[in-house]
Amino acid sequence: MNAWFKKSFVLSAGLALILSGCGAKSDNAATNPSPTEPGTAQSGNKLNVVTTFYPMYEFTRQVAGDHANVTALIPAGAEPHDWEPSAKDMAQIKDGDVFVYNGIVEGWAEQALSSAANDKRVVVEASKGLNLMEGTAEEEEGEAHAEEGHSHDHVLDPHVWLDPVLAQKEVESIEAGLVKADPANKADYEKNADAYIAKLKELDTAFKTALKDAKRKDFITQHAAFGYLAKQYGLTQVPIAGLSPEQEPTPDKLAGIIKFSKANNVKTIFFETLVDPKVAQTVATEIGAKTDVLNPLEGLTDEDKQNNLDYLGVMKNNLEALKKALNE
Ligand SMILES: [Zn+2]
Repeated sequence: MNAWFKKSFVLSAGLALILSGCGAKSDNAATNPSPTEPGTAQSGNKLNVVTTFYPMYEFTRQVAGDHANVTALIPAGAEPHDWEPSAKDMAQIKDGDVFVYNGIVEGWAEQALSSAANDKRVVVEASKGLNLMEGTAEEEEGEAHAEEGHSHDHVLDPHVWLDPVLAQKEVESIEAGLVKADPANKADYEKNADAYIAKLKELDTAFKTALKDAKRKDFITQHAAFGYLAKQYGLTQVPIAGLSPEQEPTPDKLAGIIKFSKANNVKTIFFETLVDPKVAQTVATEIGAKTDVLNPLEGLTDEDKQNNLDYLGVMKNNLEALKKALNE
């Protein structure tokens, strides 16, 4: 492929993203969440690990330590639910020694892995083996069922990374994958994984302690990303959109959320950093509530990066935001 064609391919992919009207912000789409920009890493003997969106990148980086060059395919500022790989991404997937993805969010992954065939590659589907919840019937009626291969009966909730307990399981799966690809460094991967899991356990304790006596249990989110977190800490998520941010609510559903919020005297409506907050703001205005960020960690923004925020930092901010909203 010549340079001109590559450029126009990227341009048209960007245009398609804008035209799709999904509300994802596509600014800074050329940056990578990693301090290691793709192409600049010196591979040497290190493993070449390709991950999908931010939490997969961060968990992998934590376990890999110095033994791997870890890159994220989905750039900062991009929403992973509606992202698709370019030809350049496909080449990167093909060359990777290890491919780490969450599962479900990356509807393109299976096909990409078979097209970019590589017998030696170790594939880690980090949510595999976890007891995944199904979306509610209401969410399944959303418009997002243009997605091929998914019937209405099998919409599973992929957002396990937002539960500090299930996140530990994802870290363990990633650890197993790295050990399989690079058994010589097994002891280091184990040590790194244990250290990060200890931090996730502390995070879990902080959530448990802070939320157990919350005055209210319901919180209104922009899309249904916080189901596992809510379940873990005895809360109820009331999502405006469905399991994917582009599943916008029907007028009936929106009316129901406004009615619920008024009846329960809800004072905060949460929105996200990577998705147009228009609908969340409309609900907030309608009921006279304020808005605040509850970050589903589907990617970092450039601002998050400038503030040195990582998975643990964002989760701590989420906890503060929840604590405030659930006690007002
Ligand atoms: Zn999501």
